[in-house]
Amino acid sequence: MNQHDAQEISTNAPPVVRSFREKQDGYRWDAVSLLAYKPAGTHFKGITRQVLFGEAEDLACQLRYFEIEPGGHSTLERHEHVHAVMIVQGRGRVFIGEAVHAVAPFDLVYVPPLTWHQFRASDQDLLGFLCLVPCDRDRPVRPTAAEADTLRTHPTFGNFIRL
Ligand code: MN
Repeated sequence: MNQHDAQEISTNAPPVVRSFREKQDGYRWDAVSLLAYKPAGTHFKGITRQVLFGEAEDLACQLRYFEIEPGGHSTLERHEHVHAVMIVQGRGRVFIGEAVHAVAPFDLVYVPPLTWHQFRASDQDLLGFLCLVPCDRDRPVRPTAAEADTLRTHPTFGNFIRL
């Protein structure tokens, strides 16, 4: 351990540089933990979470990286806080409000407040994206049984969504 390393550990601050490592099992960075997307549930499939920046850097926002395996999806949910997303690898589709959009690397996706949304990887390719959120944010809410019935029978996006 050199003096630089010792100083970083003793101050408990994040390292100033954490190298990107493209691994066989997905995008990874030094000193960034691979986390479960959410504690548990059947309303999402094949998705991991990594917190790249946030409270540790004394920021008001968190920058997360999510990766969805082929055929997987995030939870269909909504909340008051917004998402600012940049797709960074793979292919997929995004349901926002009333429409489904195809997305590819470097596309920007904005999820407005209180708007139903869901991210799905294609069946052939994973979907990786950066997502910026406020550190102080409300908890996501899933559809009620009545809302789910309305959503899944919708002529435009009913077949797309996963509940
Ligand atoms: Mn969300």
